Amino acid sequence: MSDIFDVIVLGTGGFGCSALYHLARRGLKVLGVDRFGAAHDRGSSHGETRIIRKAYFEHPDYVPLLLRAYDLWGELEAESHQQLFWQCGLMLAGLPESEAISGARLSAKQHTLNVENLTATEASHRWPGFRIPDDFDVVFEPEAGFLKVEACVQTHLDLAIAHGARLQLNAPVVSWSASDREVRVQTINGEFVAKSLVITAGAWSASVMADLNLPLQVLRKPLFWHQTSSTEYNLGSGMPTFYFEMPGNNGGEARSFYGFPSIDNTTLKVAEHSGGDTVSDPLFVDRECRKEDSQPIAQFVQSCLPKLNPQASRQAVCLYTVTPDRHFVVDRHPQHPNVVIGCGFSGHGFKFTSVLGEALADLATDGHTKQPIGFLRLSRLQ
Ligand SMILES: Cc1cc2nc3c(=O)[nH]c(=O)nc-3n(C[C@H](O)[C@H](O)[C@H](O)COP(=O)(O)OP(=O)(O)OC[C@H]3O[C@@H](n4cnc5c(N)ncnc54)[C@H](O)[C@@H]3O)c2cc1C
Repeated sequence: MSDIFDVIVLGTGGFGCSALYHLARRGLKVLGVDRFGAAHDRGSSHGETRIIRKAYFEHPDYVPLLLRAYDLWGELEAESHQQLFWQCGLMLAGLPESEAISGARLSAKQHTLNVENLTATEASHRWPGFRIPDDFDVVFEPEAGFLKVEACVQTHLDLAIAHGARLQLNAPVVSWSASDREVRVQTINGEFVAKSLVITAGAWSASVMADLNLPLQVLRKPLFWHQTSSTEYNLGSGMPTFYFEMPGNNGGEARSFYGFPSIDNTTLKVAEHSGGDTVSDPLFVDRECRKEDSQPIAQFVQSCLPKLNPQASRQAVCLYTVTPDRHFVVDRHPQHPNVVIGCGFSGHGFKFTSVLGEALADLATDGHTKQPIGFLRLSRLQ
């Protein structure tokens, strides 16, 4: 009996490491399994930084989760004695009716959040590194900022281990099965048995849960670091994280670009949130930079960040796993109540890993959670 775990977590990336931490912290006997090493760069949780914000333009229903997420990031910093979150604010820029501007204003109003409304001229005076189109509105959220992504993953893992969790890294799971009494997880290193299973397999979710026929699309997302000699882009100069929603030409779709203040006082990270090529096998994604990757970023940089070198000095490739409605899936498996799933985080999930790791741990142990995740149920997609 001693080899039977309370819970196995399949995939210890952004969400899995947090679930593992919350389960271990409750004194449960837990095992985390991953096909790669700790805080690796082959999935969706790498590339230095992730934006965190409360005035959520995607939907106001996310805001209560974000309030709890902020508390839990603070607790993780206190327990680990290290800084994971930098509160430098977020500047959203777009047409007044754009999703980013109108959605952030709606969430701020519904949840009485602290945001400032600025004109393009006011924002360009406050942050002279930006060139903002005259017809844009700006919403600034001072409590937003960024998380250091790999450090968050590593810290959740380190503290999970400190609370007694076991890890099987570099151990791809080849199959799993569940009955009323137990779950069995077969890895290349052998089989492990537990009372319940949390599946947080990121870009591999559709294949790991092939039985569910999940409507997930994996997108290749390049990110770029551009050099600058201007101090205006430095974190220490008051530069915020930023997100521009650029209207499409001739009635075309809007394109969104985002970025971070320079944390090394030399380079600044910029990427496009919209678009992305579909990836058929996440193990074999093309990680080289293509001309068609860098061209739209160079154009955006020339228009809106004029003191940045438009040619990138470094790049990386990351993966989004998107649902048709771009909202997450956090639920129990419809056929197996002792299997819990978190997937389809659609390129905006990382800031929630603290709170949704807690919710996944609740679902795996109690079958329910007090976190308001009803809008993330799987049945809406089936
Ligand atoms: C470029 C980019 C920018 C982003 N920006 C933001 C942002 O600013 N703010 C924000 O909140 N979010 C952002 N996101 C989204 C966020 O990073 C992701 O939603 C989140 O990291 C997804 O975490 P995950 O646990 O689902 O996936 P991952 O972290 O990839 O974890 C999945 C894990 O499962 C493992 N696994 C899969 N299959 C198996 C198997 N068969 N056996 C064993 N292990 C397996 C994988 O190895 C992996 O470690 C961004 C994402 C990208 C790519």
